[in-house]
Amino acid sequence: MIVILEPGIDKSGAKYTAVMNYLSNQAGIQVRVHEETGAQQVLTELYLVGDTKTLDKEDINALPGVERVVRISQEYRVLGRHKDDKRSTHFEYNGVTFSQDNLHIFPGLCAVDNPTHVEQMMKACQEHGLETTRMGAYKPRTSPYAFQGHGKDCLPYVFELAGKYGIKVIAMEVTCEQHVVEIQQALEQTGNPTGVMLQIGTRNTQNFELLKAVGRQQEMPVLLKRGFGITLEESLNAAEYMASEGNRKVIFALRGMKTNMGDPHRNFVDFSHVPVVKRLTRMPVCVDPSHSVGSREQSPDGLMDVFHVTAQGIVAGANMVLVDFHPAPAKALVDGPQALLMSELPYFLEDCRIAREAYEARVKNINRIRPA
Ligand code: PEP
Ligand code: MN
Repeated sequence: MIVILEPGIDKSGAKYTAVMNYLSNQAGIQVRVHEETGAQQVLTELYLVGDTKTLDKEDINALPGVERVVRISQEYRVLGRHKDDKRSTHFEYNGVTFSQDNLHIFPGLCAVDNPTHVEQMMKACQEHGLETTRMGAYKPRTSPYAFQGHGKDCLPYVFELAGKYGIKVIAMEVTCEQHVVEIQQALEQTGNPTGVMLQIGTRNTQNFELLKAVGRQQEMPVLLKRGFGITLEESLNAAEYMASEGNRKVIFALRGMKTNMGDPHRNFVDFSHVPVVKRLTRMPVCVDPSHSVGSREQSPDGLMDVFHVTAQGIVAGANMVLVDFHPAPAKALVDGPQALLMSELPYFLEDCRIAREAYEARVKNINRIRPA
């Protein structure tokens, strides 16, 4: 059960104390306080754990300071959608709104290699009206001898260049808690010229200590990649780990499943799960066409598979696209063969726009007979 308190409730005031007193007198019930700091106000939610069936919803609803009470299923308590649950499906970070109702494109480098390429990428984003990009500084690689990313050494110039070109959010993978600290320090040292969306890669989807660590910090949002060899339910529970630690700013990314059934694609594209994740949870959903497809192959119509699957994800309602670009893919240190060229960026963005328009038209069409 979730008890949603009036926005901005004073935690030292009489109303809050009365609610907490009432709840602490209920046998076998533990209360977990969850606070969310929005642009305007702080929202406080109380998660009741234990034998909540014995609780009277109406009695709690009638307490001063209580706005609403929601009974929840066991699944995804914080991030899930529950009956009569009107909690938000969006969040804001560094002036950018991420929502189940909008779309952001994050074209960028799979791995940061040098300042020139970072600058070319960010300049191109700005020229096309984008405030978001991806930049890999910490790269988890299959081989211990492969390039592992420049790590914290590249962060100052990546952040400064982001500021120079008006980039507000950079998706950046972290593989341990120390990386989060390094990012926080580098942002501070450079005067916070940009923001970072921490990315949990598919190899770490069930690294529970890492999930808890990124969940404990509540400033930066998190992009959680679906685990490549586990069920959707297991990956959604991984997202819930972060939320249960206090960070609800989580975006769920589909990036394909590891099986040779998807050959010749690098992973079996799973973007049909976009609407499923939106139905089960309140998370915006991202698709990663680059790591799903893994090549620049194209079909006879002239469209690359990366374009096709991106459009499929967007037509199904995706809210974010994480896609590899590189100014000189032949020189890329990681994943060059799947990178799109800078000259392809306007066409890619136009293809995304066409697909989004189709999605919006589809929603409008069905709502004529079945309002949402
Ligand atoms: C990436 O986005 O660079 C990446 C390594 O993705 P994944 O974790 O999905 O393989
Ligand atoms: Mn990659």
